[in-house]
Amino acid sequence: MGLSPKEESVICLNCGECCKKYSITILPKESKKISKFLKISNKKFLQEKCELFVKIYPKSTPGLLTCTTCFFPKKIGLMIDSILSYPPHGFFVVPQIILKRIDGNCEFLLQGNKCKIYSKRPFPCKVFPFMVVPGYEEQYPFCELFKKSGKDNVKKSRLFSKKITEYFKTVDKIGFEKTWKYFPNNGKLFLSDELIGEISFKQLKTMLNHKVKK
Ligand code: SF4
Ligand code: SF4
Repeated sequence: MGLSPKEESVICLNCGECCKKYSITILPKESKKISKFLKISNKKFLQEKCELFVKIYPKSTPGLLTCTTCFFPKKIGLMIDSILSYPPHGFFVVPQIILKRIDGNCEFLLQGNKCKIYSKRPFPCKVFPFMVVPGYEEQYPFCELFKKSGKDNVKKSRLFSKKITEYFKTVDKIGFEKTWKYFPNNGKLFLSDELIGEISFKQLKTMLNHKVKK
């Protein structure tokens, strides 16, 4: 039989490792719920407690959020050139917002490994270790909860993938600005999974404004 939620929380309170290792993606509805819980405006929450988290993947053929490389801001182009000798004509641009991290830890991790927004924590926090399926166990050697419970979150992981896909489709259809209304001014840019530098909202906007025509 599995562990009760109380037994699970006792194990987690001794650890908090996942709050120190991962960037936590949020979705627009979660942002509103968390800001309400914190009794601050959604604008203040997004601007002060979150940051941009943008990944780009080479992709030239038309499709979801595929943007033309030659229109990228010069600074972003130089970052890409320093890694790729022959940049492709386009990139799949994945624009996300994550909870801000302070000294590597989540902004909301309190002393004693307590979470300041526990009842409203985002989906990835609720389902960690969210990609636990047979064969992936070795990715979470630090997670006592997984070791003791053998938790299988594969169904919830699929639900999360579905929510994320819907989010990308919305951004593709109505744009990043209309999807969020408010957003952090700065954040990090990754080429595939490699951190290549900082990105501003203005630079992201320029990239997203030039989608490859379908
Ligand atoms: S889910 Fe695992 S890694 Fe995260 S706090 Fe609980 S025991 Fe630690
Ligand atoms: S929101 Fe809470 S549970 Fe999620 S990473 Fe931050 S401190 Fe951990």
